Amino acid sequence: MVAMIAAAGCQSQTKTSSSAAQQFSPADTMHFQMGVPAGNASMKPEQTEYYSPVPPVVTPSTFDSMPPPAGATVLFDGKNLNNWVSANDTTKPADWTVSDGIFTVKPGTGNIETKQKFEDYQLHLEFREPIEDTANHKGQDYGNSGLFLASEGTGDAGYELQILDSYSMSTYVNGQCGSLYKQYPPLVNACRPPDQWQSYDVIWHAPRFNADGSLKSPATCTAFQNGILIQDHSILRGFTLYIGHPYYTEHGPSPIKLQDHHHLVSFRNMWVRPLN
Ligand code: MG
Repeated sequence: MVAMIAAAGCQSQTKTSSSAAQQFSPADTMHFQMGVPAGNASMKPEQTEYYSPVPPVVTPSTFDSMPPPAGATVLFDGKNLNNWVSANDTTKPADWTVSDGIFTVKPGTGNIETKQKFEDYQLHLEFREPIEDTANHKGQDYGNSGLFLASEGTGDAGYELQILDSYSMSTYVNGQCGSLYKQYPPLVNACRPPDQWQSYDVIWHAPRFNADGSLKSPATCTAFQNGILIQDHSILRGFTLYIGHPYYTEHGPSPIKLQDHHHLVSFRNMWVRPLN
């Protein structure tokens, strides 16, 4: 099957209403690539990086932290990472730094993911970008982390909502903060300056697969950064890849993962409300 939506490019948002997504026709799955595209092996990262149009800046209003509502699944309570494990070896604990009610990437220790698996959910996360050395850090090497809405294995396998300091630094737009990495730039740049707390609120619907492993319905993501809409029911074309065109392979419920990209990004107040 040919990835027709992939051929349409990464800059255009493909949208349907929620009800339309729920009535997703099997014929529509013809637009999605199943399995690794044959050409991916020879592609270079730059082939899926776009620099325009640049999302306009919208300055967010005053930030208020948002504690978990009743019944939410708390993923971090300010005390420990007992709900998390190493994504590269799930038998090992998450070895990031917990201090003063927040946790911070410990560079070089690898990504961490939740012990619990999720399918469709509402998620809240607060994060804080570090102040970087602008002489030695540029673009993607500047406050980079990531929220993987579904982890599909070790490393960066899965679907990443980018976390980056796009207040201070520009990069390819489909890799800036709030992008669904290399698939959809954010609608606007709603970043706060580094060293200030920011929030993500996400509605994630996981993809579904038929008994034969074919795609039944694609993943969708709606996201707010600091209360501002940045992804409006974006339909993912598969895993978010650094190299090559996205594709799907069958999977079920998945952990949520955070990225160690060797930057001291901090997190707090993270909770989930499963929707199914
Ligand atoms: Mg990242």
